[in-house]
Amino acid sequence: MTLKYLPLALVASCLLSVSAMAKQAPSFDEADLKVAAELRDQALNSSLDYEIVESLTTEVGPRMAGTPGDAAAVKWGVAKLKELGFDKVWTEPVTFTTWKRGVEMAEVIAPYPQPLVITALGFSVATPEDGLSAEIIQFDDLDALKNAPEGIAEGKIVFIKNRMERARDGSGYGPAVAARGQGASQAAAKGAVGILIRSIGTDSDRMAHTGMMRYDEGIKKIPAAALSAPDADLLENMIRRGKPVTVKMTIGAKQGGEYTSHNVIGEVTGSEKPEEYVIIGAHLDSWDLGTGALDDGAGIGITTAAAKLILGLPERPKRSIRVIMFANEEQGLVGGKAYAEAHKDHIKNIITAAESDFGAGKIWRIDSKVKPEAIPAVKQMAEVMEPLGISYGNNQAGGGPDLIPLRGKGISVFSLRQDGTDYFDYHHTPNDTLDKIDPEALRQNTAAYVIFAYLSAQMNGDFGTGFHQK
Ligand SMILES: [Zn+2]
Repeated sequence: MTLKYLPLALVASCLLSVSAMAKQAPSFDEADLKVAAELRDQALNSSLDYEIVESLTTEVGPRMAGTPGDAAAVKWGVAKLKELGFDKVWTEPVTFTTWKRGVEMAEVIAPYPQPLVITALGFSVATPEDGLSAEIIQFDDLDALKNAPEGIAEGKIVFIKNRMERARDGSGYGPAVAARGQGASQAAAKGAVGILIRSIGTDSDRMAHTGMMRYDEGIKKIPAAALSAPDADLLENMIRRGKPVTVKMTIGAKQGGEYTSHNVIGEVTGSEKPEEYVIIGAHLDSWDLGTGALDDGAGIGITTAAAKLILGLPERPKRSIRVIMFANEEQGLVGGKAYAEAHKDHIKNIITAAESDFGAGKIWRIDSKVKPEAIPAVKQMAEVMEPLGISYGNNQAGGGPDLIPLRGKGISVFSLRQDGTDYFDYHHTPNDTLDKIDPEALRQNTAAYVIFAYLSAQMNGDFGTGFHQK
């Protein structure tokens, strides 16, 4: 090539890359943006989302993985999706080991005998049948326990007193919950015979918060439970007096056998590219203490109602929309892992995904994890959500717990961030019940999800793939 022709070649290559860019950047038709706004307004005038949560909490109630409530919830999900007229409804198997809660009691034996309110943590082993009595050794948080000298807790019950911070985005949960997940093995490594943690929550009700814990391999399994916040205060006050505090805890929990539950899936089948689909989901299981209204009945109501609005349009959207009711999220994202494994050869068909699993508070922000060229389209989507009080945040979305396994396979995801200021007052407690849901806030969520699902199904172009977030 001579110098003479270089400028022309440069211009040509620039033109080519501009048109390639334009091809890659997704966009929405004006007509679709209009329909999305209409769907939004319909959602704000419908109580279907609330009716669905009311139905689930009333007719099924607690539905911990592997219990009769789990089986009832799967049956309920299939019947509900069929009743609502989804084009396809099916289930996919999800197999896991079960855990059963038994008796759970605790009391201070000395120096000031009185009862304590506790709940066993998920997958805790039992104490001896007639209980376990030992002196308490207190730690400020998990790190303090980790950094303590070897053998410091020999023969004692470890008490971790860390408090979770209240925050709109729930950011206090991550740092606090480590004590629940890892506390038992860390305590056992220092010689402890049991562990009590302050509940991972933000309330001061005399109710304890359950949740999953895990034993490290090769370390003795010791019984683990959470104290209600006021009982953790009580224990702190006793310890402050300087005398040894002895507690008796009795836990009858045990591991059960294998069980097969099901992810329940309802599809709005696309008219042009039915094999391509958008996932909106929530988890169908709950803990056993409450009726799982906020965690995650709300998500089931929001996503199912959003898809039902799209079913009501005169024409099916171009791509399919799948509502996935994931099995057993609480005990290890088991349903999410099963879905990702079952569909691993068709990951490219998943256009994008979002899970609603943060209660029923209003959404205030939409975050994406998409290719950079797609961000202008996401902002356009956010504009349709603006009347709902939602604005665009950033391109670092996580998508939701059950999407972690799919995210690891590279799909794009969205996070419709809810106000979680009060969420951890009720999370994993007997107090997670229907009355905590504000129907108006729930409708605002459904309105946002219907915009997300519809526009993603109609979009020209794509959000990209290959993100492989861990
Ligand atoms: Zn949840």
